[in-house]
Amino acid sequence: MNANSETASPAIDAASDDALAPPASTAMRTGRTPWLIAAAMAVLLPLTLWQAAHWAEKAALQAVRDEGIKNLILYISNLESELEKYEYLPLILAEEKDIIQLLQHPRDDAHRAIANSALEKINAFAEASATYVMASDGTTLASSNWNTDKSFVGKNFKFRPYFQTAMRGKAGHYFALGTTSNKPGYYLSHPIHLEEGIFGVIVVKVSMERLERTWAQGPTQVIVTDANDVVFISSQEDWRFRTLRPLPPDEAEKIKATRQYHDAPLLPLPIRVKEELGGGDRVVTIAGIGEGPGRQPRSTDYLMQTTNVANITWNFHALSRVSEVAAAVYSAMAAAGLVFLIAFLGVLYLIQRRLRFRDRLAYQQQVADTLKTARDELEVRVSDRTADLHASNVHLRREIGERERTEKTLRQTQDELVQAGKLAVLGEITTGINHELNQPLGAIRSYADNARTYLDRDRAGEARENLVTISELTERMGATIARLKGFARKGTGDAEPVIIVRAVTNALDLLAARFRNDGIEVAADLPGDPLMVMGGSVRLEQVFVNLLSNAVDAMKDSARRVLSVRLEEALETLTVFVEDTGTGIAEDDAGRIFDPFFTTKDVGKGLGLGLSITYGIVKDFGGDITAANRPGGGAVFAVTLRRAEAAAEDRP
Ligand code: ADP
Repeated sequence: MNANSETASPAIDAASDDALAPPASTAMRTGRTPWLIAAAMAVLLPLTLWQAAHWAEKAALQAVRDEGIKNLILYISNLESELEKYEYLPLILAEEKDIIQLLQHPRDDAHRAIANSALEKINAFAEASATYVMASDGTTLASSNWNTDKSFVGKNFKFRPYFQTAMRGKAGHYFALGTTSNKPGYYLSHPIHLEEGIFGVIVVKVSMERLERTWAQGPTQVIVTDANDVVFISSQEDWRFRTLRPLPPDEAEKIKATRQYHDAPLLPLPIRVKEELGGGDRVVTIAGIGEGPGRQPRSTDYLMQTTNVANITWNFHALSRVSEVAAAVYSAMAAAGLVFLIAFLGVLYLIQRRLRFRDRLAYQQQVADTLKTARDELEVRVSDRTADLHASNVHLRREIGERERTEKTLRQTQDELVQAGKLAVLGEITTGINHELNQPLGAIRSYADNARTYLDRDRAGEARENLVTISELTERMGATIARLKGFARKGTGDAEPVIIVRAVTNALDLLAARFRNDGIEVAADLPGDPLMVMGGSVRLEQVFVNLLSNAVDAMKDSARRVLSVRLEEALETLTVFVEDTGTGIAEDDAGRIFDPFFTTKDVGKGLGLGLSITYGIVKDFGGDITAANRPGGGAVFAVTLRRAEAAAEDRP
């Protein structure tokens, strides 16, 4: 039982402590979680940024590529339509009367003037760069720019491939830097046939300047390269007559010999491929050119897309700026970082919430467990206690049974003792009674003898008087015998109202003979009222017989032998005092006189039961008995009993 309660209380204490402290698991996790989160962030953030950058770059580049291709196609068609516009002009001019007449009369100034003026007009109308007629030896006979200081008239362009092609009877197309004008242009040539054969060549030089200017305004730079990778059309002027690759010296020499690009140095364009994207597309860096000495040329990244122009051996290159790509990458990274941060904070919040939820669950579980443990403990303790209680109940019941049996035996024994005590007193009483009966008996005999004598003398009156006296005496004797019988009777049963004075008087009467024999003066001060107490008449009689008898014994050796009996009334009780002038009670004996078998009398004289029986009877009736010594010598016994009226009121 004890061990149980000791094990139970720490469990409950622990629970109440835990109510204040957070669950241990939280403390453990809170130590580890920040590191995990930091590690996750360290891995995930760069990954996310990298992925975002990758996607953004891919998407942006794709957009640039799409745009570039679109522009490229547009520019090619621009060029083609520009060239087509002039395609038939040489053919038509080859049929021109003024030109043919000039060829027929090459030295005739009038024809030359007519032709010059016709070419000038046509050239202006067609918005060509120059239009001119060459004789079969390559000398220019007439030209639209006859009137300028850069006039072609008289100049020989025999070395030009467009002349040679035309002289072979075919239309010629050629791009070159003008040797006279030093201006680039596209040359379209056509042979001029007379009956005898090819007499000359008509040439239309078309400037690309307008086209280039238009292109320069577009978002995409355009360059056109020839078979030798020389840039001859370019939206960016710096790049013109640069090469996409360094030309080997022999190749450079060969080009120089054709004078196609006149005296242009044909330096390589500072271009570097950064990344091949597949499909001929690549990212290139082109350094700035001619930005002045001491200044670091600024390079720009371009997406370079190349395509062939179908009928010519030219390559078209679209160069789109990729700075937007970088910007797109940066903004994508920033957006991704932001999204990541928001997502991360969200995840963090959810984790935190989950952890807190789990903690709460764990805590609730812990509380429930503790409660359950406490409840189990309590149940065990209660059932233990119940078992104990049951056991002690059984034990108690057994004890009660035993007590009841003992009490019954005791009562029996007590009854027997009372009877024994009574019989002992009876012995003493009998001596007195003997005298009590013998004395009237003797008197009766005398009165009877006297009556007979009176009858013999015929004195009937006197005889009758004697007989009346005899009758009275027998009556007295009968009463004495009845009292003795009553005393010897076994008194049992519950307390009932008894007239106390009657019990005292009966006891005095029973012992009257003894008082007389021992010369004891009896001073009874008793009221005439029938005051009632709770008791039994026989047993109360015994109480007073015992006390009176003891008083007589105590005064055996006293010179003055006075026995006084008086009654005191209280509200709820009545007390009878029995006082004597005897030996009194020795100090040592005072505490023992009510003990059974305590006696100071000689062997055979006292059993030591009188007072113990008296005590038992008085207590049985709810009363009390005390003993004391009188100041003037002798003892006083006080018997206090409850008044019947008070007891009746007490009863519910
Ligand atoms: P017993 O009379 O047989 O001795 P009791 O129980 O009546 O037994 O009395 C016990 C003892 O109490 C007596 O032996 C006596 O010593 C003492 N005692 C009783 N009554 C008186 C009395 N009135 N005066 C002095 N002593 C008394």
